Amino acid sequence: MKVTVLKKLTIFALPAMLLVAAYLSLPHIAALSPAQRELALFSPYLVVVVGMSLSFAFGRGRVFFILLLQGIFYWSFRTYLQNGINGFAPQVVFQSLCLLLPLNITLFSFIRERGVMTVSGRMRFIFLALQAAMVAWIIRYQHDYSDLPLFLSAKFLHFPFISDLTLPQPALLLIVAGILLIFIRAFTRQSPIDSGLLGSLVAVAVACNWLASTDVPLVFISAAALILSVSVLQDSHNMAYRDDLTGLPSRRALNEQMLGVGRQYVIAMLDVDHFKSFNDSYGHDVGDQVLKMVAKKMAAVKGGGKAYRYGGEEFTILMPRKKMAEAIPFLEEVRKNIATYQLVLRGNDRPKEAKEGKKLRASERGDKSVSVTISIGVAESSDSLRSAEEVLKAADKALYRAKSKGRNQLSK
Ligand code: GH3
Ligand code: MG
Ligand code: MG
Repeated sequence: MKVTVLKKLTIFALPAMLLVAAYLSLPHIAALSPAQRELALFSPYLVVVVGMSLSFAFGRGRVFFILLLQGIFYWSFRTYLQNGINGFAPQVVFQSLCLLLPLNITLFSFIRERGVMTVSGRMRFIFLALQAAMVAWIIRYQHDYSDLPLFLSAKFLHFPFISDLTLPQPALLLIVAGILLIFIRAFTRQSPIDSGLLGSLVAVAVACNWLASTDVPLVFISAAALILSVSVLQDSHNMAYRDDLTGLPSRRALNEQMLGVGRQYVIAMLDVDHFKSFNDSYGHDVGDQVLKMVAKKMAAVKGGGKAYRYGGEEFTILMPRKKMAEAIPFLEEVRKNIATYQLVLRGNDRPKEAKEGKKLRASERGDKSVSVTISIGVAESSDSLRSAEEVLKAADKALYRAKSKGRNQLSK
């Protein structure tokens, strides 16, 4: 259990490393010569533009728009806040940045991906443009809003560390809530983009709080944009190597794994029995549910095996450093686990009262349970089967034998 939590936390490794790297680079930025510093001042724009091009090319609208906001953040900082946060316009700009950027990052992590140049993409752009217009309006008609900066910078909490922060306290509240929400979401969904949004929210919060120093916004807005750009790449990589439905690594991942598998290994091909007629009787959605269940059981194979979705209802388990005789008990265990598992389908005539529903047994509620079996073909590397492709072909032939012998069994 603990191991899976640790493994799931690795989704935050890259953003965390980039944040640490940003922090460590601060003294080096301070040591730059004036000419080098002039150049460095453009680095946030550079990273933002590269990230926006990437996310545009990969159709990642949420990241695209947040990067745009980070570009605007940095531009506003350079334009209005270089000489401190004094006067009405700089105060309003500062507070808007501190409030709106974290708010939008949190919002955008919870909306669905809908691309950039789509209808939803345009609506989102308008939504952000309206916010900018609102800030411009407040600055233009500042006499009507003269109390606003005072209200937003009021200190509601009086604790040692918290009241020393430059961040307006309403923004602090938003940031803390946003960090918690996105953390939970990224952790449960294991999505690189969500963890990237979390990392960039932290970076933006740091930039906001230390806005008085030129270096901190420069470094941390670059970091925020870099974290998001990297998350887009990570997400696309995952898409190519991970099967969407089952979450198992894909055939492409298997092919790469087979290149460096070593001398001694076992390959098993696993195929759901009569799956076509199963789909025909219960529908494609139930079929998908079954594939997810089957994949979960295969992923839990012991003995150092790793499961892949080969395609359709066919799966592969690769067992490095194993002999056939050692591997078979582990594979048999998977077969039995799947054959004995009862997948409960919810009946349509369930009672509306939840309590009542709990008292009834599954069968009485009108729930139905279904089960499937799988057949397995196994082959191991040997002098006659030198390449992994040959072993895989042999496993496929063995699978065919398992099918013709009556299914729900393993064949060598
Ligand atoms: P056998 O016991 O010989 O393996 O028979 P079978 O019906 O399982 O074999 P066949 O290869 O003819 O059928 C495979 C079926 O798997 C056909 C296709 O509709 C179904 N299938 C493939 N991919 C998916 C998927 O992602 N979701 C669902 N629901 N069905 C799938
Ligand atoms: Mg089949
Ligand atoms: Mg098949």
